[in-house]
Amino acid sequence: MLGQMMNKPLLISSLIEHAERYHSGGEIYSVNTGGGVEETTWGAVAANARRLASALTKLGLEPQARCGTIAWNNRRHLEIYFGTSGGGFVCHTINPRLFPEQLVYILNHAEDKVLFIDRTFVPLVAAVRDKLEHLEHIILMEGADAEAAKTLPGLIFYDDFIAGGDAGFDWPDMDEYTASSLCYTSGTTGNPKGVLYSHRSTVLHSFGINLTDSVGISASEVVLPVVPMFHVNAWGAPYACAMTGARLVMPGPGLDGPSLVGLIDTYKVTLAMGVPTIWLGLLGEAKKAGSKLESLKRTVVGGSACPPSMITAFREEYGVDTIHAWGMTEMSPVGSVNQPLAKHAVLPEAEQHRLRENQGRPVFGVELEILDDDGNPLPHDGKAQGDLVTRGHWILDSYFRKTREETLRDGWFDTGDVATMDPDGYITIKDRSKDIIKSGGEWISSVELENIAIAHPKLADAAVIGARHEKWDERPVLVAVKAEGEDPTEAEVLAIYEGKIAKWQLPDRVVFTDALPRNATGKVLKRNLRDEFGEILIG
Ligand code: AMP
Repeated sequence: MLGQMMNKPLLISSLIEHAERYHSGGEIYSVNTGGGVEETTWGAVAANARRLASALTKLGLEPQARCGTIAWNNRRHLEIYFGTSGGGFVCHTINPRLFPEQLVYILNHAEDKVLFIDRTFVPLVAAVRDKLEHLEHIILMEGADAEAAKTLPGLIFYDDFIAGGDAGFDWPDMDEYTASSLCYTSGTTGNPKGVLYSHRSTVLHSFGINLTDSVGISASEVVLPVVPMFHVNAWGAPYACAMTGARLVMPGPGLDGPSLVGLIDTYKVTLAMGVPTIWLGLLGEAKKAGSKLESLKRTVVGGSACPPSMITAFREEYGVDTIHAWGMTEMSPVGSVNQPLAKHAVLPEAEQHRLRENQGRPVFGVELEILDDDGNPLPHDGKAQGDLVTRGHWILDSYFRKTREETLRDGWFDTGDVATMDPDGYITIKDRSKDIIKSGGEWISSVELENIAIAHPKLADAAVIGARHEKWDERPVLVAVKAEGEDPTEAEVLAIYEGKIAKWQLPDRVVFTDALPRNATGKVLKRNLRDEFGEILIG
C-alpha cells in the first residue's frame, strides 16, 4: 500500500516561489561590482529570476543547458542561481581564481552555452574566448556598456536581457532528480572534477542546514555570506535564506577586512559565513578600527580547520559564537556542524569551550564512518583515526561524466580526510590523508600543529608539512610567515608548543617564507611546500 500524500517534487523554484509569496518585502543589500550598495527585496529578485528563466527559454536553450557564472556575491548572481535552475537549466558556478587553462578545461568539459560575468572578469574571458568550444552567449551582469562590448563582441547586457523576459513566467514542472547546478572541485592534482547537484539534493540540503542544531538560519537574522558564490553554491546559504526569508547582505568584490567590518556595522549583520583566512583579515581590521562588531552574534567557519585561537578571539573579544562546520564540494557541501548537547551544559566552562573546537556531528541526511586501510569500521572512541567516508541525501554518487565505480568505495564516498569520531558522533579532522605526517610508525596531525602555531602573536600564517627524514621517514617542518613588524627566532616560535603536545610531535625545523601558496579556494598547497622544503632535513 502506498501512502496517500501529495507528490510535490523538491524543486529549487519552490524555494524562490516561497520567498516571493511570504517574504517578498525582505531586504537584500548588494554591493555593486563598480562600487555603491543597491537595495532590493526577495520579491524583486524572484521577479527577475522569472524574467531571466523566460529570456533564456526564448533564446532557444535546450533543457539542462549549462549556464556558467563567473561573478561575485551580488543580487544578480542570486537571480541567476534561481532563474537558471528554476527554468530547467544548470547553473554552473566557476571560480575565477583558477588558472586560465583550467577555466578553459572546465567550460569545455561542462559544454557551457551561456556565460554570465561580472565586469571584473571581462579581460579574463576575452583572453580565453576563442578556446571556448561550446559557448554561444556571454552576458555582462550590468546595463549596456559600450566599452565592454568592444572587448567582447556580441556581448549581451543582463539588464536589457531580462527586460525582454516575462515576470509572470511559470516555473516548469520537473522530476526532482533533474540536474540543477554544477561545481568543479579545485583539485590540487589532475583536472578538476564536476559535481552535478540535483533539485532534490539541493532542497534537502537546505532543510539540513536550516535545522537548529545545524546552521539554523532564521527569518529574524541578517546574513552575510562571505563565502563566494562560486564555491559550492555558497554553502547553500542563498537557498536556505530564500526558504526562511532572512535578510541578506551580498558583499560584492570587497572581501577585505575593512569592507566586511563596514558592512557588518552598517547593515547590522547577525550571522556571517566564511573561511578562516577571511576571518583573520576581519578580526585584524575590527581591532584596528575599534569596532566591537556589535550586531554580530554568530559566524559559521569551514572550508579548512578553524584554529581554536580564532574561536576564542570571536568569543572573548566580540561575544560571537563560532559554529565550526566541515564539508566539501562533493557534499553540497555541509557534512557536520559543531553545536553543543544538553549534557554539555553542566561541564566546566573551559571544557565546554574545548568541545566546540572540533568539526561537529553529522547533520541528519549525512552518514559518516571512519575506516581502517582494509575498509573496516574503526571504534567511535575519539581516538582511533581513519579514512572518513560518507553517504547520504546530498552526497555525490558519481562525478560528472564519470561512473559510480570510478567515484565510490563500496558505496561510500571517500572524503580523503583522516578523522576521529567520538561516541556522540563529533568528528575531528586530523588531516587530508596525503598530508598527515608519518613519523616512525606514528601519525602526526599537521592541522593540530598549525592550529597551535597560528595563535603565535609573532606569526601571521603557518603550515606544517612532512619532510623526508633518514631515520623516521618523515618529520614535521613548520613553514611560517612572520607577522608585520615582527622577527621571531626559530626557538621563540617553537616555544609556543611547550606543554601543548608530546615532545616527539614537535616540528624539527621552522622555516620562514613571505607567503603561503594557496589554491583557488584558499587552501594551502602543501604539495608546493613539500617540493620546496621536503628535503630540508636530509644530509
Ligand atoms: P572543498 O571541496 O574545496 O570545499 O574542500 C573540501 C575539503 O576541505 C575537505 O575534504 C577538508 O579537507 C577541508 N575542510 C573543509 N572544512 C573543514 C574544516 N572545518 N576543518 C578541516 N578541514 C576542512
